[in-house]
Amino acid sequence: FETSEVKRVKDDVIYFKIFLTNTIMICKKPKVLDGFIGAIGNTPLIRLKNISKETGSEVLGKAEFMNPGGSVKDRAALYVVKEAEEKGLITTGGTIVEGTAGNTGIGLAHVCRAKGYDCVIYMPDTQSQEKIDLLRMLGAEVYPVPAVPFDDPNNYNHQARRHAEKIPNAVWTNQFDNVANRRAHYETTGPEIWEQTNGQIDGFTCSTGTGGTFAGVTRYLKEKNPNIKSFIADPPGSVLYSYFKSGGNLIERKGSSITEGIGQGRVTENLKEEVNSVDDALYISDEKTIEMLYRLLDEEGFYMGASSALNVVAAYEMAKILGPGKTIVTAICDGAYRYQTRLFSRKWLEKKYFNTVDSLESLYVERL
Ligand code: PMP
Repeated sequence: FETSEVKRVKDDVIYFKIFLTNTIMICKKPKVLDGFIGAIGNTPLIRLKNISKETGSEVLGKAEFMNPGGSVKDRAALYVVKEAEEKGLITTGGTIVEGTAGNTGIGLAHVCRAKGYDCVIYMPDTQSQEKIDLLRMLGAEVYPVPAVPFDDPNNYNHQARRHAEKIPNAVWTNQFDNVANRRAHYETTGPEIWEQTNGQIDGFTCSTGTGGTFAGVTRYLKEKNPNIKSFIADPPGSVLYSYFKSGGNLIERKGSSITEGIGQGRVTENLKEEVNSVDDALYISDEKTIEMLYRLLDEEGFYMGASSALNVVAAYEMAKILGPGKTIVTAICDGAYRYQTRLFSRKWLEKKYFNTVDSLESLYVERL
């Protein structure tokens, strides 16, 4: 239904009016959720206290790490599986095959357990051991493969597609170009943010892997209020920042980033229809991301993954650009547990990206 005047009466009671019929509905959120699947979504919106104070704006993080599988990708995982079921592409005992940096795979592995499917995951071998281990513990068959560009036939996505084609009752869920992914965020994340802010939101920003989160949330929020600004945030090694800044030129992908799960070399199907909704693009360096990662832990108590820290840097910069007194929302995609032997290892950080020990001293990275 198209609704208006959504109000939170009590913590678990929502009041809303249906446009067409003018009916007033009172909706009580269930206190008991229906299994793993029922627990996906409806994550809280959390005020980042120090960042808000410093910018003079409300900087809010959508706590996607509180999904039952631990990341924003639980939502997309559920939607791509549901779509395969609805299209009759898979039946009980079948196999879901996906190419993923890890989090979609983890979401899928959980959803597959819950629904009785097998799960096969292809991922670039540049990803953290923690994600590979977790996937295997969840019962997925995991193939770490060399990280080659998308136009190489050995790219992890093409290997996943070929694997699915070879076995019966199997589906390649194709998260990058399957818009069921974006729909998950259009139908759940976006409406949740709108309702949780009572429609009082000025800006949304996040980084992109598939682009599903960015595009789905942006589309929903702009339909509600076209004045809401949406900024895409991009790490080193991704081409979207230059794509938007140059008015649509795709450059060759070069370099890499400390962040896992984000960065893109092309405009995916999930992103394609929303390219005109991008109000600005922000380039966020690894140094800024790492600084924010440690700051969020030391000042606010959050143990976030690097893409979340990057998103908070972007929200901070967006708040500065839009000026004080605004409400800015971003995504806290997952926790640091999946990367801790990297992000909290001085050796790894030094080897990877930081050549000045000084910049690490102040972060107290020798915690492991
Ligand atoms: N952060 C993390 C940690 C992720 O794993 C992903 C997805 N790979 C994203 C952000 C980006 O989400 P999306 O695919 O919706 O763009």
